Amino acid sequence: MSSPESSPSIFDYGDGISAVDSVYERSLQTAVHIMVERGRAAIIDTGTAHSVPLTLAALAQRGIAPEQVDYVILTHVHLDHAGGAGALMARCPNARLTVHPRGARHVIDPGRLLEATVAIYGAETTRRVYGEVLPVARERVLETPEGAALSLAGRELSFFDTPGHARHHVVLRDGRTGHLFAGDTFGFSYRELDVAGRQSAFPTTSPSQFDPPALARSIERMLALAPGAMYLTHFGRVADLARLAADLRRLIDAHAALAERCRRAGSERFRLLTEGVTALVLEERMRQGWPVSEEKTLEIFALDIELNAQGLASWLDTEGK
Ligand SMILES: [Zn+2]
Repeated sequence: MSSPESSPSIFDYGDGISAVDSVYERSLQTAVHIMVERGRAAIIDTGTAHSVPLTLAALAQRGIAPEQVDYVILTHVHLDHAGGAGALMARCPNARLTVHPRGARHVIDPGRLLEATVAIYGAETTRRVYGEVLPVARERVLETPEGAALSLAGRELSFFDTPGHARHHVVLRDGRTGHLFAGDTFGFSYRELDVAGRQSAFPTTSPSQFDPPALARSIERMLALAPGAMYLTHFGRVADLARLAADLRRLIDAHAALAERCRRAGSERFRLLTEGVTALVLEERMRQGWPVSEEKTLEIFALDIELNAQGLASWLDTEGK
């Protein structure tokens, strides 16, 4: 394997926007997006602490020094998006970090976030996957509620509150292109599954704030902004958004119905949820004609199946009553 530090995979989308493959558990899974405007930069979602050298190398390739980063923008505080925030902020002395008001305290003091992750994965895996999750100094944190706006060297960035995947989730709109940075609200869309450039999307229902009606409303709202493209953290730019949104709505309903069917399954519940999500993934493979084997599909979705099943269980335990 070549040193990731020296050769990050970068996807250039024009308009100063690019995606860096942050190599989370596999490549082409998690992107760190970069926006450059007149020598100033914003980084949208950070990946983990392990992603920071890749992001800085990608910036350097664009002639951008860490001092030229004005904003580190978090769509939400799940650790695959925000785990590297503290480490990245330590390297970018002029940056301010933006986050949904509900997420601010978790980046200032990541203790609870880490605890929740350790509860799911265990201490050893958490440390291996996320590296050291550093706090961000309170005075460097800017809260971005619904309606907040920032200027990146004159380029307006505005924020929309988009609950459904998480209650601490915002979507960012780039005023120059009208494109949206969707975080996890528009699901994931893996490039290995494209069929001759035709993309597909699958919702993420991961713990612990999945809320199907809220997620469907947030997706409607994003579409109503009429973006020509969206940038998903998992993975990169997608277009043909009305078709993808219809697929997401259908799959969100299917996840909610699956959870309902498993509601009274007792000790069998998690196994049935996992089998059910697996079935939804494999049905989608057939429907979309994904050009990968069943085995490869399950490999690509391994973590997502586990997290979607956990999120459905947690929804049944709380909001879904
Ligand atoms: Zn998430």
